[in-house]
Parts: sequence; C-alpha cells; structure tokens
Amino acid sequence: MLKILVLGSAAGGGYPQWNCNCETCRGRRDNSINSIDRTQSSIAVSSDNINWLLINASPDIGQQLRDRKELQPGRSLRDTGITAVMLMDSQIDHTTGLLSLREHNTRLPLYCTQMVHNDLTSGFPVLNMLEHYCGVDWHKIDIDEQWFAIPGIENIEFRPLVIDSKAPPYSPHRTDPHPGDNIAITIRDTQTGKTVFYSPGLGGLQDRTRQIMADVDCLMVDGTTWTNDEMQTRGVGNKLASEMGHLQQSGDGGMIEELSNLDCRKILIHINNTNPILDPDSVERTTLKDHGIEVAEDGMQIEL
Ligand SMILES: [Zn+2]
Ligand SMILES: [Zn+2]
Repeated sequence: MLKILVLGSAAGGGYPQWNCNCETCRGRRDNSINSIDRTQSSIAVSSDNINWLLINASPDIGQQLRDRKELQPGRSLRDTGITAVMLMDSQIDHTTGLLSLREHNTRLPLYCTQMVHNDLTSGFPVLNMLEHYCGVDWHKIDIDEQWFAIPGIENIEFRPLVIDSKAPPYSPHRTDPHPGDNIAITIRDTQTGKTVFYSPGLGGLQDRTRQIMADVDCLMVDGTTWTNDEMQTRGVGNKLASEMGHLQQSGDGGMIEELSNLDCRKILIHINNTNPILDPDSVERTTLKDHGIEVAEDGMQIEL
C-alpha cells in the first residue's frame, strides 16, 4: 500500500512565522482562531512503513523527525527510516534540512535535477559542505518524464514533470529560468496502480500538467495563497503569488476552479502563514469544503 506522511504542510517561514504578526499568525498566538502550528513543506513516501523517501528537506526536519517516530525504525544503534531524499527544487525551505542529516552513516542518496544540483553546489553550496560530513550520492533526475525507481523504496515508481517557476533568489540563474529548476512528481504504487501527484509549488498550469492531474487518484498541490495579492493585502510584502511561482486558490483561473472538474482526492499543501484557510472556521475554508478540497496538516497520513 502506498503511504504518504505529511511532515510539514506550511510554506516557507512555517506557521506561525517567527517574525510575523499578520492576522493569521497573531490569531494563532493569541488563540483567537482555531488554527494549528505547521512546519515547512515536506512529505515522506513508503510502501512498507520502514523505508521512506523524503521529498524535500525542510529546515524544520529535526522537529518533524522527533514528531514522526515511524521514521526511526531502530534496527541498529545509528539508524534512520530515510532511505533516500528527493528535491522538487532548490528553495531554502525545501533544502536546508539536508544540513541536519549530516550524521548519516553512509553517503546520503539524493535525487534532484541538474539545475537543482547546480544551485546546491554554487549559490547555496550545501552539497559541497556535506562532503565534509556524510556526503551525498547524487542521482540525476532526468526531465524527460520517464518513470524511475529508487533502490530500497519497494513497489513505488516516480515520474518527474517540469513545471514553470523560478530558481531561488540566491541562484546564479535566478533571472534566467531553465527546465528542471522546479519539478512536480507523480508517485505510483506498482502493485495497485494508485497514483499521487505532488506539487507544492505550482504556478501557471500547462495543458500537460492538467492532463496528468486529471489522471491520478490523489492530488497534493500548491496551497500557498488564497489571493494573488495576499502578501500586499496582509501588509507583509509586495510580491504577487504568481511572481513567486504559486497559483492562488480563489477567483478566475484559480486552483479551486482548476480542481473543480476533477473527482480524485484533492489536498492543498504548502500553505503560507497569511492564508485565511489556516483558520478552520473561516468562510474560505468552508468554500474549500464545499468543493471537496482538503487542507493538509502536519502528521496527516494518506493511504492509497
Ligand atoms: Zn516552499
Ligand atoms: Zn503571518
């Protein structure tokens, strides 16, 4: 059985964000809304509950692994359930957790694209730094949409999809986008044929993306912001969601509309701390419920 464990359901900064006093962050701290804490974006995938693929390594990984004891099988004095790590992009909130895995017994198997590898050996040279600790065993994810398997992760295969977005601010090619800066991943149980599409950062949807989304059993997609100008209306920044590579949920052409004709399980993940859907009693959350859309929480388990 394909099992997905949500380690972190928030966007960069987590929820509440340490330096933020926007309505939703403040509401969490003073308990004026019924929201729950969320750590930064990461999931784990397994078919045997012992060997897990970690997808994205969040700066909150220490807390996430303390909270999710199933990722420590305890077979030897030094052990981990993390068999390999896969990265969707090279963003800070998806990669800095690699530093916290430096005590790994052997070279850490790492799956990412050439472009992500470039960033992580230049602008943010975390892979070079890890050479002084466990080191990584890099497996390049080709961007040609071929299914591939990961040794140790039994009965599951993966297919990358290049998506439109941007390299991180620190990247030497920030203003010069390349295919493979950002990918989404389809995960398939080879025994049951069940599939999940995971894309925590999804800007504009291309026809190919829609085609793939229409064909899976479960979607775990970009839930960053409710409106495109949310950072501005909440008074915390000037950037539009679209400028950060995210599609807002509400309005014409928004994620709710994109999801409305699909009848698979639909889950939003990578929720920004400004998003009103963090409040379970909000009208926005009711709108999602009416459309059959769930909001991921840390610790959520999905079995297919
Ligand atoms: Zn992120
Ligand atoms: Zn906030």
